[in-house]
Amino acid sequence: VKVYAFDVDETLEISGGPIRMAQVEELRTRGHVIGICGNLAPVLLKLKEWPNVFSFIGPIGLPKEDFLRRLRQVLPAEDHVMVGNVLGVSGASDDKGAAERSGWRFIKESAFAIGDR
Ligand SMILES: [Mg+2]
Repeated sequence: VKVYAFDVDETLEISGGPIRMAQVEELRTRGHVIGICGNLAPVLLKLKEWPNVFSFIGPIGLPKEDFLRRLRQVLPAEDHVMVGNVLGVSGASDDKGAAERSGWRFIKESAFAIGDR
């Protein structure tokens, strides 16, 4: 089982990104744990079914790297993956940096959209 955390803005299709919700939900179908580490408002407002999709939502006031670090401590898995932006390249959030600083593997949103897992 792997844990995937998704950024929202410029990552998910519901907020200007390339990743379709069907691609996110497919991971859950395969038995992985998926959640949000990003701007929660679009998720909560646009996805009525969000509680049935995501197992965690954050970072809720924490720096992303702190949220990811804490989540990794309480949720052991074979792999922890943050999917999001490269600051200044593909979006406004430093998801690559947050992943690196918290020990999570990083996948750029565009790479995930074309099949990287
Ligand atoms: Mg972003």
